[in-house]
Amino acid sequence: MKFAISSKGDNKSNMLMQRMKSYLIDFGLTLDEEKPDIVISVGGDGTLLYAFHRFKHRLDKTAFVGVHTGHLGFYADWTPDEIEKLVIAIAKTPYQVVEYPLLEIIVRYKHNGKESKYLALNESTVKGVEGTLVMDVDIKGQTFETFRGDGLCLSTPSGSTAYNKALDGAIIHPSIRAIQLTEMASINNRVFRTVGSPLILPDHHTCMLKPLNQDDFIITVDHLQLLQKDVKSIQYRVADEQIRFARFRPFPFWKRVRDSFIGE
Ligand code: NAD
Repeated sequence: MKFAISSKGDNKSNMLMQRMKSYLIDFGLTLDEEKPDIVISVGGDGTLLYAFHRFKHRLDKTAFVGVHTGHLGFYADWTPDEIEKLVIAIAKTPYQVVEYPLLEIIVRYKHNGKESKYLALNESTVKGVEGTLVMDVDIKGQTFETFRGDGLCLSTPSGSTAYNKALDGAIIHPSIRAIQLTEMASINNRVFRTVGSPLILPDHHTCMLKPLNQDDFIITVDHLQLLQKDVKSIQYRVADEQIRFARFRPFPFWKRVRDSFIGE
């Protein structure tokens, strides 16, 4: 089996990465940074987001596992003192794979007719470069509302515990193929009106954002910030691709939510 390891880059994560590398090689695995069967991220959730974007071109052939060197993460749930156990599990056992939905983002441009496609593991947000964001929000081909405010966030179920949660979105179990739309500080008064509640769309519904007052936007895709110019529309839906996580022990999603937000 071929493996790759990404580290957050701090001393603790780098040392742990080196130890895991040599253990895995001792167990007969091959280090392959190009075509790994398994990708181990050492650091935190952010490190796993980087690893996902690094290997997003081969999601159907790669499984991910995360070790955390800080606090318990949603994607990074193995602790540094468990790495021997994890290495043995990777080397010896045929592991289970669980698949989580991803968000597909297609940005279309006004003048050149081109489009760019992105995949997010957590979410994508849209904010204006200057002033209030004004956008028509279409759902499944029908105009739903005109949004005025700071921005909009579209998240995946596994990303629902990240930025989405800070925007009062619901936590969605990742076995549900859906995306969630949340508002950032919408302007609501007698003239302007938005629904004000998070919306959860099933996997056959598309959400299309169409700019009304400007052409340039800051669009985030997980940790990436992209300045997008001359934007005609931004389309969101549940992606056909999924991320695969290698599971070596049960760690139910709701237990992770409880341990992270309420306490062990
Ligand atoms: P970062 O290091 O500032 O990470 C932000 C925090 O988000 C970390 O504590 C991380 O553990 C946590 N996190 C990431 N994914 C999570 C998930 N799926 N569930 C629960 N917590 C999660 O920034 P980064 O490493 O560049 O990560 C980018 C992420 O930061 C974005 O995808 C976004 O979700 C999050 N973010 C959150 C807010 C907010 O909560 N107000 C604002 C901006 C970005």
